[in-house]
Order: sequence, then structure tokens, then C-alpha cells
Amino acid sequence: MPNRTLFDLSDRGKRCTRMPEPDVPALAPEEMLPESQIRHTPPGLPEVSEPEIARHFARLAAENFNVDAGFYPLGSCTMKYNPKAGERLAAHAGWSGLHPHAPQPCVQGALRLIRALEESLAAILGMAAVSLQPPAGAAGEFTCLRVFRAWHDDRGDDARRRVIVPDTAHGTNPASVARCGCDVTAIESGDDGRVDVSELEAALDETVAAVMLTNPNTLGLFETQVLRIADMVHDAGALLYCDGANLNAIMGHARPGDMGFDAVHVNLHKTFSTPHGGGGPGSGPVGVSADLEPFLPVPRLTESDGMLRWDWDRPKSIGSVHGFFGNFLVAVRAYAYLLTLGAEGLREASEQAVLSANYVRQALTGAYDLPYPGRCMHECVLSAQTIARETGVHAVDIAKRLLDFGLHPPTMYFPLIVEEALMIEPTETESLVTLDRFIEAALQIEREARESPELLHEAPHVTPVRRVDEVTAARWPVLRWRADDEA
Ligand SMILES: *Cc1c(COP(=O)(O)O)cnc(C)c1O
Repeated sequence: MPNRTLFDLSDRGKRCTRMPEPDVPALAPEEMLPESQIRHTPPGLPEVSEPEIARHFARLAAENFNVDAGFYPLGSCTMKYNPKAGERLAAHAGWSGLHPHAPQPCVQGALRLIRALEESLAAILGMAAVSLQPPAGAAGEFTCLRVFRAWHDDRGDDARRRVIVPDTAHGTNPASVARCGCDVTAIESGDDGRVDVSELEAALDETVAAVMLTNPNTLGLFETQVLRIADMVHDAGALLYCDGANLNAIMGHARPGDMGFDAVHVNLHKTFSTPHGGGGPGSGPVGVSADLEPFLPVPRLTESDGMLRWDWDRPKSIGSVHGFFGNFLVAVRAYAYLLTLGAEGLREASEQAVLSANYVRQALTGAYDLPYPGRCMHECVLSAQTIARETGVHAVDIAKRLLDFGLHPPTMYFPLIVEEALMIEPTETESLVTLDRFIEAALQIEREARESPELLHEAPHVTPVRRVDEVTAARWPVLRWRADDEA
């Protein structure tokens, strides 16, 4: 029976392990939890044997698409293949068994790793200081916007509450602005898909706290006017933020600090390897200029007498944005990745990522529209607009059909300014054979759209779950299993 839950497998009395009766004296009543906090009916957990649990989750894992199962060209997400060596290192008890409250003299190795990763990222980004605390890219944006506000306020310039965001930005950018109590001003991109400098100039005034820029932007295009933009923003008294989620295109080649950015986040789970996509832990370290360093989240690492310590006493800090020191095991993977590749390897990874994206772009242009012509960076944004107009087949149908070929769909309908967008990011980790297989499938699907569109409207055909009812899933989601649902 498909889609069985563990509850369906449950039978009273089944167990994985049975604990022996305790042979230590029972606690005295005053040592127990207060009566009000003691549960008298057991929780409604499924009762299953260990092989049943193991097989249940192995089956679910096998049904799910993942980067170990196939090519995953999800643009803007950098779904690169993550080396297993990093996983093994992060799982080592010396890292994974650490307690955040362990005495600092006992965890100097872990603190050293945090310090070394901060310094490496600062060097890669061209920034004065890095904090690993934010647990995701969005959290990094939020952190830096708070830092920006604190910096403006500290100078007595507290009327700046507007943040300018280009219309190609990732949705987290305006969301972070709103979370910081600021107002978003969206600016339209120019015909070349880049920031329209005169639009930006018109929007800048003394109410603007910051401009958020993604470079390369979400169309996979490098913002060639970035130096000019930085000057304009600073002349207007505002700060310039770099959404660094696309660092995979430029690491080792160009640094946000050198482009005039005051702060940047990177997504360790994108650029520096960590499995993601299932909502697993991420990490969005931020780098800032020397002026902004005093405002970074607490605690900060300091070193004296050869000993690293956490410093909480930083009066200008915005406070903490996450428990303890961020998602530490993601930092372990990232540092392992950095050491594995080295400076030259990182540079090459970016070159390969850009080459792969251009290879795919070149091969698919013609069959698909290329709304912003010319070379791209690490991802290319194609469009199914002509196909949709001529055949009634939409980007979503193409994406679903790719699943039949064992290929994960690209990102769809983003950036918002491209109709029927298909945003492809092959990453540096895929072989030419894989890229060719993807290209062949995408070309075949374009032919199918013209010859047998119904095949695409009904795709996918071979996945464990066919096309789901997305409206029902969004409007009336069933998120909880209840015993009476069974009846
Ligand atoms: C992924 C992404 C973000 C958000 O990062 P999360 O780690 O998912 O919070 C922001 N901007 C861009 C361009 C991204 O691709």
C-alpha cells in the first residue's frame, strides 16, 4: 500500500528495544517533576519493530529525489554534490558530541575551527570580520540589516528606514527588510537584466538605510556597474549589502569587499557544501567592514594567552540571532571543503560552474528562449514563453516531464521578471556526460511539447507520486495524522 505511515504499521506491544526493569532506588517524591508536569497517559506514538522502521525510512528515502539520486540543476540553490568525506568528518564524535556549554578550555579545537573558518571566509569575501551565527542566508540578511540600522542609529542618523531592492531579488530580501521594521522600495531592472543606475539614483535620498544587491544577480548576470553603484550609495549616506548566495560563481576571482559592499552573507549550505533542500540545517555567515564589526552578534571569539574565549561584553552588538555559535556542524563541513579544495581549487570550482552554465545555455538557446542574451555566470535563465504560446505547454509541465528522465527540474517562475522562467544551475560537480544527458532530455521535451503536448500535461509518469494537486496542498494541507482519520 503506498504512502503508508508508521502509524499504519503500528501494532500494540511491538518494540525496537526493551529496557530491563531499573535496579536503582526510585526517586523520592520531592526529587520528581511536579505532579502537574507528569504525563499519565502515554503519547500516541506508533509501536513498531526496528526492521519496520528502518525499511519505512529507507523506502521513503528511495522515493525522494535527491542529489545522490540524480542531477539537480535547481537555480539559485547551488545543489552541488557534497563530498562524503565532509559528512564523515562532521559525524565524528569529536565534533558532533560537543556540548555548547562545555568549558571553553576543553573545546579549544572547535573554537580554533570556528576562528579559522571565519578568517578564511573573511579572506574570500574581502571583509574585515565574519560571524558564523546566522543559521541561513535569510538570517544573514536580517542580521546585517539590523547591523546597518544599529550603525545608522549610533551616528544619530535614525530617520533612515527605507531599503532599496531590485526586482530580481530573492524573496528573502524584501522579507528581511520588513522583519527589520524597514520599508522596501523595489526598483525595476534595466533591459540588460542588471540594475538600472538611473532608477537607483532616483530612488536614493536621506531616508535610505541600505541597498541590497545580489552579485552575480538572480539572472546569472554580473552587475558590471557595481563600483559606480557603491559610490552612489555611499554618497547618499546609505550602506550597500551583498546577497552572496551566488558566490559559487566568483569565489577566488572577485571579492564583495573589493566591490564596495559594506556587508555580505554567504550560504555555507550552497557554496561550501552541506546537503540541503529538505530544510536541513544551514548556515548564513555574514562578513562586514571594520566600521560595522562592533555591531556583529554576540558572542565574538577573542584570543589571549594562546586561549580562545567567547566575549559577550560588546556594548554595541545587536545581540544574538541564534543559539550559541550557529550551526556548528555545517561549519565543520565547510572548513573541510575549504581545506580539501584549497585556494586554487576554489577558483577552479567557480570557473567550472560558470563554464557548465554557459555550456547548457548555449545548447538550449533556440529550443528555449533566452530573455537576456549573452554570457552568464553560474546559472542561466531560459524561458518557455514561446513554447507556451505555441503549444500550451508551460514551464511547470517541462519541469514535471524532466522527472521522468531522472532529472530534477530547474527552478521555475523565478526571477519574477521572466515569464515561464527556467533557471538552470548545473554547478561544477557534474560531468560533461551528465550535462549532455540533461541537454538531450530538455531538447527532446521541447519536441514533445510540439508533437504530443498531452504527454507533458500529464507528466510525470514514472515517479512514485504523480502530479500532485498543488492548489489543494496549498489551501487545505493535511499536516497531521489522527487516529480517527483512519476510520
Ligand atoms: C538561497 C538564497 C537566499 C536565501 O538563503 P537561505 O539560506 O535559503 O535562507 C537569498 N538570496 C538568494 C539569491 C538565494 O539564492
